[in-house]
Amino acid sequence: MAHGSILYITLGCAKNEVDTDRMRALLNGAGYDEVFSAEDADAVIINTCSFLASATSESIETTLTLAEEISEGVRGTRIVMCGCVPSRYGSELPDELPEVAAFVRTDEEDGIVSVMDEVLGVERVDPPFIPSVKRTVESAVAYVKISDGCDRYCSFCAIPYIRGRYHSRSAESILSEVRDLVAGGVREIVLIGQDTGIWGTDFKDEVDGPTNLAQLMIAVAEAVRPEHVWIRVLYLQPEGMTDELIAAIRDTPEVLPYIDIPVQHCNARVLKAMHRSGSAEQLSDLFAKLRAEIPAMVIRTTSLVGFPGETDDEAAEMLAFMDREGFDYTSVFPYSQEEGTFAAKMDGQVDEDVKLERTQAAMDLAEALGFAATAAHVGEVAEVIVDGIEETDEGPELIGHAWFQAPDSDGAVHLEVTDAAVGDILQVKFTDSFCYELVGEVVEE
Ligand code: SF4
Repeated sequence: MAHGSILYITLGCAKNEVDTDRMRALLNGAGYDEVFSAEDADAVIINTCSFLASATSESIETTLTLAEEISEGVRGTRIVMCGCVPSRYGSELPDELPEVAAFVRTDEEDGIVSVMDEVLGVERVDPPFIPSVKRTVESAVAYVKISDGCDRYCSFCAIPYIRGRYHSRSAESILSEVRDLVAGGVREIVLIGQDTGIWGTDFKDEVDGPTNLAQLMIAVAEAVRPEHVWIRVLYLQPEGMTDELIAAIRDTPEVLPYIDIPVQHCNARVLKAMHRSGSAEQLSDLFAKLRAEIPAMVIRTTSLVGFPGETDDEAAEMLAFMDREGFDYTSVFPYSQEEGTFAAKMDGQVDEDVKLERTQAAMDLAEALGFAATAAHVGEVAEVIVDGIEETDEGPELIGHAWFQAPDSDGAVHLEVTDAAVGDILQVKFTDSFCYELVGEVVEE
């Protein structure tokens, strides 16, 4: 018999999706059912985001709207708030949000079953079943968290205060999850963390097996064999790009030549004020080296616009740098004054209208570069993983992604519907492109 019904709401990034799914798997194992509307739910889990002030506001607004909706019903549905907002504002929340029955920080989420049992008054005779694969979403792609937290303390970023100090997950637990996922049919493993490049540097005791990211990637590749599985690594800080890592990407067939390096800026003065390091020259040298070692390399980056003290010239310098480097994908964020961060107290906060103007210019350039990089694939034949079928005005079409498109971040590939199933890897010829999207036809199954 089910102990209760739960609606899951996830806000924010892919890492939060992974966390929600992990909680869902634990709660399913413990006898809770998932439902898809608040009306049918005994409890709602809201997994929140607090990366930016706007994300915190969205998380609070979603909670308050839900509380209002629920108060009109008769079911007495409880709300449990998880994730980044409780991690960041923990002690202030019970007074501010009496509508919420429990707050669960990111580092407490593995204890979600006990929290839910307490909130819903469930008494257990036997301990709950704990599934070996803590994942329920059926998809060809699986995100595997290799670390959490961050020790860099970039002056604009609240993540270290939300997610805590950097801590690497053990290789043993990562590899065991990867094996289970591949056995379950997953075709792409995406290794994620706030700062994946320094994975392993916090291991205190001597460990058997991999102790840095390059070695971990090779071990993950060995773990997925003999299946045909892609491996992608996201969120590498420029300083983490060692020669060993570049060689591992180059020489390990399963590891895709796709790299996500959030540079944020290129100007040395701005980078220093951001508590980051490097200069345009050093970054350009790194990208040149990557492209020389791995000619097919696809590069995604992030640009933070309007950091306190950024001058018109420095903003223009960043645009010229983006243009010179011709990044395949660039996410552009306007600087946001985040409570508790060093940069929030800095002089020279840039006027909102100037920030918006610079953001628009950076976005226009990012799109022009990205659209051109996408169009450059027209005529190529490449592997595409099938992600699903979508209904469009012209009828259903098959949606997939190529190796140079990170799922959920970059564009997709659109194909005529065939009898291919989710997770199939097809050989596709790209015949056309629009924005970040490609149109293709299957040349061989
Ligand atoms: S490295 Fe990334 S997560 Fe860490 S503080 Fe800097 S911006 Fe934030």
